[in-house]
Amino acid sequence: MHTHDATNEFDAIVVGGSYAGLSAAMQLARARRRVVVIDAGQRRNRYARHSHGFLTQDGIEGSTIAALGQAQLLTYPTVTWIEGTAVNAVAHNGGFRVTKHDGQTLRGHRLVLATGVIDELPLIDGLTERWGRHVFTCPYCDGYELEQGNIGVLATSALSMHQALMLPDWGDVTLFLNGAFEPDETQLIALDERNVTIERALVRRVTGKADVEMRDGRTQSMDGLFVIGRTRIGSPIAEKLGCAIEQGPMGPYIRTDQKKASTVAGVYCCGDAASMFPGVPHAVADGAMAGAAAHQSLVFGTVATQTLKNE
Ligand SMILES: Cc1cc2nc3c(=O)[nH]c(=O)nc-3n(C[C@H](O)[C@H](O)[C@H](O)COP(=O)(O)OP(=O)(O)OC[C@H]3O[C@@H](n4cnc5c(N)ncnc54)[C@H](O)[C@@H]3O)c2cc1C
Repeated sequence: MHTHDATNEFDAIVVGGSYAGLSAAMQLARARRRVVVIDAGQRRNRYARHSHGFLTQDGIEGSTIAALGQAQLLTYPTVTWIEGTAVNAVAHNGGFRVTKHDGQTLRGHRLVLATGVIDELPLIDGLTERWGRHVFTCPYCDGYELEQGNIGVLATSALSMHQALMLPDWGDVTLFLNGAFEPDETQLIALDERNVTIERALVRRVTGKADVEMRDGRTQSMDGLFVIGRTRIGSPIAEKLGCAIEQGPMGPYIRTDQKKASTVAGVYCCGDAASMFPGVPHAVADGAMAGAAAHQSLVFGTVATQTLKNE
C-alpha cells in the first residue's frame, strides 16, 4: 500500500484504479480531498498489445497509459493507493464502509465505482487464447491494424449484423453465421450492399493466427476475427448497494445520470461499468465527470448532483 494518509477515513473511496477510476480520483485529488483508490489490477484490455484511439496515446500499451496515470495521481499528497479487491460496501453514517478481501475496512463520504466489466466470450475452441491479439470486439480499437485484410465476424446473435455491416470499412468481411441467427431478406440485401460474404457452415474451432476451421473440414484464413460476447459488471457491489442496473445489448451496466450519479445517493459510477459505450477515452471522460460530481456533492450535498431516482 502506497499511502500519504495513515487513517482509513476518506472523502471518497474509488473502487477500480484503471482509466475511469484514475480519472475520477484525479479530480478529487486536485480538489485536495482525501481519496483512496482500491484496485485489483485486472484492466479489461490487458490481453491487447496496444491501445488505440485515445488522443495523444494512440498505439501506446494500455498498461503504460494506466501506469502513467497512476504515477501522476500519486504525486498528490491526499491520495492513498491500495492493491486489492473491495468485496463489499454498505451505507454507513451518511457515507460508506467498504470491506477489502483481507477484511480491512475503509470509510468514505462518497463512493466511486469504476470496476469495469468482464468479457464472456462464446465457447468456440481457440477463441479465448487469441482474445486481444487476433480476436477483437471493437472495430475502432483494432480494425485499422488489420490493413484492409480478411476479416471474419463470428456471429453470436442478430446483433452481429452491426459488426458485419461496419467492418467492410476495415477490410473484406466474411460473416460466419455459425447457426447463431439467419438474416432476413432486408438484412441479406444490406449485407450484399456492403459486399459481405456469408458462411453458413458451422465453426469447429479457431486455429493458426485467426483461421476458422469449419465442421465440414474447410479452413478459411482470416487476418482477424470480431465477435460480440457478453459482459458483466466487474463487481457486484453496485447491485448490492441497490444501484439501478440497465440492460444493454451486450450486458448490464449501472444506471447513471449525466453527472455519473447512480440511483443511490453518494454513489458515482463511471467507465465501462456504467456505460453502453466502452473505450479508454470514454472511460477517462466519464471518470473526470464522476470525480468532479462526487467532489461537488461533498460541497453542495448529493441532491444537487443527483437527478436519478431508484425505481
Ligand atoms: C481486447 C480488448 C482491446 C481493447 N482495446 C481498446 C483500444 O484499443 N482502445 C480503447 O479505447 N479501448 C479498448 N478496449 C476497451 C477498454 O479496455 C475499456 O473501455 C477500458 O479498459 C475501460 O476502463 P475502465 O476504467 O472502465 O475499466 P477497466 O480498465 O476494465 O478497469 C477496471 C479496474 O477495476 C478493478 N476492479 C474491478 N472490481 C474491483 C473491486 N471489487 N475491487 C478493486 N478493484 C476492482 C479491475 O481489476 C480493473 O483494474 C479494449 C478492450 C478489450 C477487451
